[in-house]
Parts: sequence; structure tokens; C-alpha cells
Amino acid sequence: MTLAPLFDVPVSALRRALDEKEISSVELANLFLDRIDAFNPGLNAFITVDRERTLVEARAADRRIARNEAGPLTGIPLAHKDVFCTEGVLTTCASKMLSNFVSPYDAHVVSLLKRAGAVSLGKTNMDEFAMGSSSETSYYGPVNNPWKIGHVPGGSSGGSAAAVAARLAPIATGTDTGGSVRQPAAFCGITGIKPTYGLISRYGMVAYASSLDQGGAFGASAGDCALLLSAMAGFDMRDSTSLDRPVEDYAAEIGTPASDPARPLAGLTIGVPREFFSVGLGDETHASIEDALAQYRALGASVRDVSLPNTRFAIPAFYVIAMAEASSNLSRFDGVRYGYRATKYADLVDMYCKSRSEGFGAEVQRRILTGTFVLSHGYYDAYYLQAQKLRRLIAEDFRRAFSECDLVAGPAAPMTAWALGAMGDDPVQMYLADIYTTPVNLAGLPGLSHPCGFDAAGLPIGLQLIGNYFSEARLLTAAHRFQQVTNWHLHRPAPIARANA
Ligand code: GLN
Repeated sequence: MTLAPLFDVPVSALRRALDEKEISSVELANLFLDRIDAFNPGLNAFITVDRERTLVEARAADRRIARNEAGPLTGIPLAHKDVFCTEGVLTTCASKMLSNFVSPYDAHVVSLLKRAGAVSLGKTNMDEFAMGSSSETSYYGPVNNPWKIGHVPGGSSGGSAAAVAARLAPIATGTDTGGSVRQPAAFCGITGIKPTYGLISRYGMVAYASSLDQGGAFGASAGDCALLLSAMAGFDMRDSTSLDRPVEDYAAEIGTPASDPARPLAGLTIGVPREFFSVGLGDETHASIEDALAQYRALGASVRDVSLPNTRFAIPAFYVIAMAEASSNLSRFDGVRYGYRATKYADLVDMYCKSRSEGFGAEVQRRILTGTFVLSHGYYDAYYLQAQKLRRLIAEDFRRAFSECDLVAGPAAPMTAWALGAMGDDPVQMYLADIYTTPVNLAGLPGLSHPCGFDAAGLPIGLQLIGNYFSEARLLTAAHRFQQVTNWHLHRPAPIARANA
């Protein structure tokens, strides 16, 4: 048996290695930093890496481990999506608008992870202001999919997903407004979870669409996601939508032995929405999802049909609401207080116009314009109000479905990762890729994607599991038990993830 290299073991194994002093946190950080040096130029998964700062955190973690005061993530390296504010480190949101922005404070998630002793390797690339499904709209250039250079990693958290898939970081944070954790997890062959809206504080997370934005976790397995999610969750007074409930220990919950080890998912009913299997779903994705459902049956789950009849309204409702909220949220970038300011302008209004025209990319401008339009007098009722009504109907669909099943399962995306630029001139075509993920955000529900196969080109396919409110432990347990008997999550994009730096 060959031992897996330390950059490719579960976080629990890294924990053991650190606690037993087989490796120090500084050595572990250097291992991943060297891999970033070697492979990031080809992937463009990171925007900012600061070796010295990382090593300062690693040294502090080593001291804490030496005092026997380590928690589950003390000394474990991780990467942050560049949407999270980090004190003293650039937070760009992949936009020219924030290309000079050094936050004076940490996002709640960042401070929780610092307190846990996790070691930040850097900030990952993404779609500008998290608007996109491909990580191509970044001011810093597109991210490559480690499974196939020249293909997208998904978006908007594509840098985090690519970094974990290529083992440039063991775990990473992301955000999911309409699929930005689940879809890149699917495209990169890793596991990603977006919890119930309100479980993770949005304080210090640059806002895109506040009623939909939610932090999330990436890992190679459900077990790694469980550890990270527990550390990110928790009430925060500074976010008025943060939920005041006890933080769960998801890793402990998924480790609870099943009462029937031969059928560890006995008693679980999985609903399969027929609307997720209609036109537009790729054949290879469809076949892999069916195989995964058969596997779930073999684990003891019962699988039945359910209906989410309003699924077809999810894309229009999502994009109206998301753009409306974005147009309002992004009005703060005016060139006055922080961020980019045009160098030549005639007067104040001209300064606003030039700063925003030069600072925002094309997709962001398109969304601000559309969002302003749907909120404007005379159009509000026709678009925004209708979208809110559809949002309610979509949430009702799920409520009905969860009276018939415990989890809903289907594809995370209709297709696998497309070639860079393939959707270039047609934004609407790219919006359609979010058909299976956006309903979950509109309803505020938790969702997870785990690897379940590959297409003929060798690109990963993800299965999405959707749960009722606060069913994160159930989602992670189902995925964990699936991963205990399958090895889709153990495949790696050769040669990147196998090579030593
Ligand atoms: N793809 C969706 C959009 O472009 C959702 C992105 C996200 O979840 N941040 O808005």
C-alpha cells in the first residue's frame, strides 16, 4: 500500500499528524504554499498569497498545539474566497473596483476561523462580485479547471473549488447566492455545502444579493466539509439575518454509527423531482445521477418521485431578485469612500460615472442596469413583485416535497464544465446553467453537491442533495455514507494533484 501524500489526506488525518508532531503547522503550510507556487500559475485559482503572513499564523498554531490547546482546525491550512474581508490583506472580489481595497476588519467567518487556529493560505479567484457561473468575469483573468486546462471550474467560487480539487488547499470557504458553492464543487469533482440561509454570518462578506447570499464550505469529502462548516457557523449580532441557534458538531454527527451497518441509510426517503430531469439535462449527467441514486438505494434509502412544479420559474425569479438587490448593494461603490476612483473627471457626477464605468466589468454593469430597471417606477410590479411571488411558490414546492421525503436529490448542473469562452456572447445561456441550484437559494434551504461520476471527456459530475431547513447534518451524513462505499471523491486530476511540487 502506498501512503497518500500529506497534501491529499482528510483533514482528520492532518489533525492526527499535527497532534502527534509528525509534522508542524509551519511545514504543512509550506507544503501547500509550495504547491501553490508550482501550480497556481497554470490554474489562476488564487488572487493573493502572502507566504510570510501565512507562516506567522502557522507558527502561532504550532505554539497552541504545543500547549495542547488545539481545536479541530488548529494548524490546518485553508483558502478564503476573495469575497470575505480580511484585515490587512487585499479583498478584491475579483473586481478592478476593489483592486486596491485592504479591509480594516475581518469578516465574521474569517475571525471565527482565525480563532479556531486555521491557517489562511490566501484569497481565491472568483467571478467579479460573485456574479457568474464560470469564474471567467474576474478582473484577474479566468480560473482553469484542474481536470482540464482551458475549461471553466464553475463559479462564482471557482478559485476555491479549483484550489481544493488540485490540492493547493485542503479546504476552502465559498459563498453561494444561486449555486456558487454547489456548481463549482460539481465541476471540480469535490464536495461543497451551502447551509440554511442565516446559519453563517454575512458580516464582512461583500454583498451581492443579500436575501440569497450565504457562506459555504468546500472539501474533498463530506467529512472535511463537516469540519469546516461547524467552524463557519454561529450567531452574529452584526448580521440581522443571522440565526441564533447552537452550533452543531457536524463531524461528530456524521460519525455516529448507523443502527443497521449493512443498510446505513435505511429509513431515509429521497425524493427525485421529475422537473430536474427534463429537457436540457445532459445524457451523461443524467446517467451518472441515476447510478448514484441506485447506490443510495443499495445503502438502504428509499427513492421516490416528487414534484417541484415551479422549477421553470426559478431562473427568471432568481435573476430579477438577484439583480435588483445587486443594483442596490453595489451603489456603495461610488469612488468616494474606498475602491477605485477614475483619475480624470469634470465634476462630481462625472467622477461617479467614470469610476463606476471603469471600475466594474461588463457583467456587473449589465446586472446593475437590469436591476435598476426592474426596481424602477412603472416596472416594479411587472418584474420585481412578480419575482417575489414566484419565490414564494418555489418555497411552497419544497415545503410540499419535504412532507413526502427527507432529502431531494438531482443533478447540481445540467452539464459538465464548458470550455473557457464558450458562453461568451450569451449571458442568458449561462444563467440557464443555474436551473437546479437557484431554487434552493430562493427557498433559503441547505444544499450539497458531491462527486458521482465523469463524462466522456473526463470532467466531473456532481449530485445535488437538498434538505429541509437545518438538515445540514442529514445532508452531510447521507453524502458521507455514500462516500464510505464509493470512490468518486478520491479521484484526482492527474498530474497536478498527484505530483509533488
Ligand atoms: N450563477 C449565479 C449568478 O451568476 C449565482 C452566483 C452565485 O451563487 N454567487 O448570479
